[in-house]
Amino acid sequence: MNGAVEAMDARPGVVFPSARPRSMLSAMKPIHLSQHRCVVFFTGAGLSAESGVPTYRGAGGIWSQYRYQDYACQRAFDRDPQAVLEFHELRRASVLECASHAGHAALAAMQATHAGVRVVTQNIDGMLQRAGARVDAELHGSMWRVRCARHGLRDDFARGPYATRRCADCGAWLRPDITWFEDAVDEAVFARAGELIANCDLFVAVGTSAVVYPAASFLPLARSAGAMMVEINPESTEASDLFDHRYAMPASEALTRVFQT
Ligand code: NAD
Repeated sequence: MNGAVEAMDARPGVVFPSARPRSMLSAMKPIHLSQHRCVVFFTGAGLSAESGVPTYRGAGGIWSQYRYQDYACQRAFDRDPQAVLEFHELRRASVLECASHAGHAALAAMQATHAGVRVVTQNIDGMLQRAGARVDAELHGSMWRVRCARHGLRDDFARGPYATRRCADCGAWLRPDITWFEDAVDEAVFARAGELIANCDLFVAVGTSAVVYPAASFLPLARSAGAMMVEINPESTEASDLFDHRYAMPASEALTRVFQT
């Protein structure tokens, strides 16, 4: 459900309805986690930017160098599975060269001290897990899993190249468990994320441009659930008006300095 990532509809023109005043830029106002029962960190590609994981779009983005039609859709996989798997092996190898940063570690530490701290991520890179964080929902899948259409999912943490490209049970090609362009999202994963977000009382969006749907629809959901809304992003986004507080700074800085137990 990663491709969906890309597959997902980017709707740059969408403006969310806003009943509250425009979000305030919060200099370094601390947030006390103990005052919240359920906290959802909703993360995007910007969380991994400081680790050096390339983004999909923009200058230097993967899709400015490669055509997703050749490497990140089911049709490409059906046409040439080896080429698609090689492309993903290169991406896995490049992510392994990146180290998690202080923001990833801070999130893991928050989870260790507060059982209600949950993570819903759009990222497929596994960087949070490498830092010891628990991820409740990977909306777009993981580059560290593959799946057989008949025999289901399996983890594959081999370094770069997949441990195996064929299903041990039936010999079919294993495809990355990532939401590609034109894929449907994993409804069970989205349902789990939606339940968490509908019940949270603090929602923190970190490093997401909030233009990839349906994941971006979780922002108005959190707001309509009455959660306190916090955005961490050096840039304002199309969804910034939905937030009560904005921290216009890199994830590593905000995650290590803003949250107190
Ligand atoms: P995006 O690329 O659309 O937006 C990234 C956002 O992060 C931007 O708004 C940018 O201003 C912000 N940002 C940049 N540096 C930051 C920093 N240091 N701290 C905090 N924020 C920072 O990302 P998206 O909204 O996640 O959507 C892209 C889609 O592509 C997602 O669905 C995701 O699954 C996928 N994707 C994943 C990865 C990954 O797993 N690392 C990488 C690229 C894309």
